[in-house]
Amino acid sequence: MYKVTGFKRAFLLILAAALLVVLASVLYWRQVTDRLSQDARTVIVSSSRELADNFSRLLGAEFRLLSTVAVSLQDSRLLENQQALVKYLDRQNKNNAFTLMGYQGPDGRAVFSNGGVLPDFISAENVETVYKQKHYISGRRKGPFTGKDILVFAVPMPSPEGEKAGVVFATQTIEFYARTLSANATHGEGLAFILNRKGDVIIAYPRAAYGNVFEAGQHSSYDRGKSALRTQQEITRGESGWTGYTLDGEHRFASYYPLRYNDWFAMAVLPTKSVAEQAQRLVLMSLVLFSSIIVVLGVLLVFILRMQSQSSRALFRMGFVDPLTETDNLNAFRFKFSRAAEAFKKKGIPYALVMVNVNRFKAVNDIYGFEQGDQVLKQVAAALRAGLEKGELFCRSSSDIFLLLLACPDRTELGRRVDSLAERAGRYCRSGGECLPLSLTCGIYLVDEDVPFYIMMDRANLAWASAKQHAGQVCAFYDEQSRRQIVIEKRIESIMDQALRDGEFKIYLQPKCDFKTGLTRSAEALVRWQHPTQGLVPPDQFIPVFEKNGFVLKLDMFMLQQTLQLLKAWKEQGKPVVPIGVNFSRLHLEDPQFIDVLARMADEYGVEHHLLEVELTESVVFGNVELMKNVIDSLHAKGFSVAMDDFGSGYSSLNVLKNLDFDCVKLDKEFLVRGEGNPRMRQIISGLVRMIKSLGSGVVAEGVETAEQAEFLSGIGCDLAQGYYFSRPLPPEDFALRLAQEKEKNSKDHQTQKAA
Ligand code: C2E
Ligand code: CA
Ligand code: CA
Repeated sequence: MYKVTGFKRAFLLILAAALLVVLASVLYWRQVTDRLSQDARTVIVSSSRELADNFSRLLGAEFRLLSTVAVSLQDSRLLENQQALVKYLDRQNKNNAFTLMGYQGPDGRAVFSNGGVLPDFISAENVETVYKQKHYISGRRKGPFTGKDILVFAVPMPSPEGEKAGVVFATQTIEFYARTLSANATHGEGLAFILNRKGDVIIAYPRAAYGNVFEAGQHSSYDRGKSALRTQQEITRGESGWTGYTLDGEHRFASYYPLRYNDWFAMAVLPTKSVAEQAQRLVLMSLVLFSSIIVVLGVLLVFILRMQSQSSRALFRMGFVDPLTETDNLNAFRFKFSRAAEAFKKKGIPYALVMVNVNRFKAVNDIYGFEQGDQVLKQVAAALRAGLEKGELFCRSSSDIFLLLLACPDRTELGRRVDSLAERAGRYCRSGGECLPLSLTCGIYLVDEDVPFYIMMDRANLAWASAKQHAGQVCAFYDEQSRRQIVIEKRIESIMDQALRDGEFKIYLQPKCDFKTGLTRSAEALVRWQHPTQGLVPPDQFIPVFEKNGFVLKLDMFMLQQTLQLLKAWKEQGKPVVPIGVNFSRLHLEDPQFIDVLARMADEYGVEHHLLEVELTESVVFGNVELMKNVIDSLHAKGFSVAMDDFGSGYSSLNVLKNLDFDCVKLDKEFLVRGEGNPRMRQIISGLVRMIKSLGSGVVAEGVETAEQAEFLSGIGCDLAQGYYFSRPLPPEDFALRLAQEKEKNSKDHQTQKAA
């Protein structure tokens, strides 16, 4: 969805823009065509008017000419002499374009300029018209001598008394007028007609077009302008107008305009083609223009959409995809979480948010490099994902932390499932074949409350933290216990500084003893918290908290100081002393001054360096071999001895051990527990001890609780034992007493031996 909205918006915007352009195009198109059709109409209408005007003018000129001749005849005696009349008429005729001229007397005898004489050439009725209207034009009729189609013009002989003195007439061929029409039939392809109100064509250009226009009109379809009937009505009424029609598949415009003579009309017909040619050219041009605009826009649109989709894909990836594992990241997970959770709720299936963390992942990076580290994460991600079922979710939240949303029909079942998921994901073999036994820790929050996502995360995290605190535990469920644990930690944090100032932290010393004699060879300083209300608190309950918040740095130094103080005091009091091991958190190693401070403090108390043993836990060693080597060398250079603590509790590598020159390796109590009743394990332990010793280190066994254990450990070559079987951690006074007693006993034994 998130992907779509941006897209949609851009698409809609561009669509709107395109629509606007199309709309503008259409409007423009309409404007142009409107304008053009208006222009075309003007052209059409004006062409018939022009035709009518010209033709009327022509006819007027003919009448004027005829009238002049009539006037010249009025007083002459030519009328009495036919021969002279013919001669005169002929001479006049030679000066104008008429075919023939003539005079028809009141008796009806028509004398022609060619000498011909015809009775009633102009009918009596028409002669009456001439007298009434002062001019007359006949319809199309046959010429008397040539048989050609002609028109006859006539004007009355002027007579002051008003009597009917005959008419002067002239004939002209239709063809002659057709030729003059051709000059008016504009635009080449046009037609021009002179017709009467009945639609009969009198003169036509071209000549072929005679007949009746109304009859011809019946074969046309009228798609523009007026119907045939309306046109006919208009013409009959003597009104001008225009129409558009299609005849024989060709569309034409026709306009008609009345002449000033008779009831005639001038009609101009123009094929749409010629009228539309200009329009078409313009329209075509705009079409090309608009289509290119649209094409450009389209290309732009495609380009923009492509860019958009690319960038939104990139954005999507940035926002929702973990680049390393190519799977969902936390954002995507959160986004999908509510919907998936809703689906589980609907089905009535409980569900859980599970946080998975790769233990000591930093060490993998440090030892094998980031590339291998990345491979590990990819493998873990793939394994976890492969274990998902329908409706469940997965993501990599940050570096080595993964989140799962799992269905939880049954709590125990889910615990087992997470365990096996973690086990499968932790099995990682490098391509070389060497397998890294990775381990994962998981925190499970069985969602039982409608709380915000970050609180669910918090709770899964709490569960994870509580699983983490119990070595060997793969997963833990969030419960009140974990929450209370956190509360405890918070409380510890709030009082630790004050506790240190108030001297609530006490030093206890646990002897490291000779297996045979049980005599104390050295000791380990262990911290106890003498809490005013809770009594003596063992370090397991606060050291991990101090490790987390860094307070362990202060505490270790305090313990070192206590140790040095004791050694100094005992020496001053002439009491016996043994080397004492002090625990140092790995955090000290990040301080380059650490060893110098150590040496300076020992010197301040006047304690020989060989009386101090630095205990470093195995995890420290595992972290960075190179750094470790330097630290050990520097400690040796200052005369301190170094012990590797808790060997075998975590990821033990003899390889690492081989490269580091420890004075002593302390076998973790875990080893003894696992060796109990397990012959194979015992064999492994014995092999290990042999190997450690062959590397030149001493071996201290921790957690020796029984005689049997002591016997086994001593049998396989361990040097010293630290455990309840020999002694619990003791307050300093008790420890000093023990040493004194041992010394006394030793000297007594010596004496008896001597005495013996
Ligand atoms: P650690 O260094 O491995 O210390 C040995 C732990 O084993 C001590 O626990 C000790 O009481 C216990 N132990 C000794 N013999 C036996 C036995 O026979 N059976 C059993 N079950 N346990 C035995 P403690 O004193 O509770 O210390 C726990 C851990 O706290 C220590 O483990 C150490 O890692 C840490 N710690 C204690 N004091 C300090 C300190 O001053 N600084 C730092 N950084 N860590 C300390
Ligand atoms: Ca220790
Ligand atoms: Ca230990």
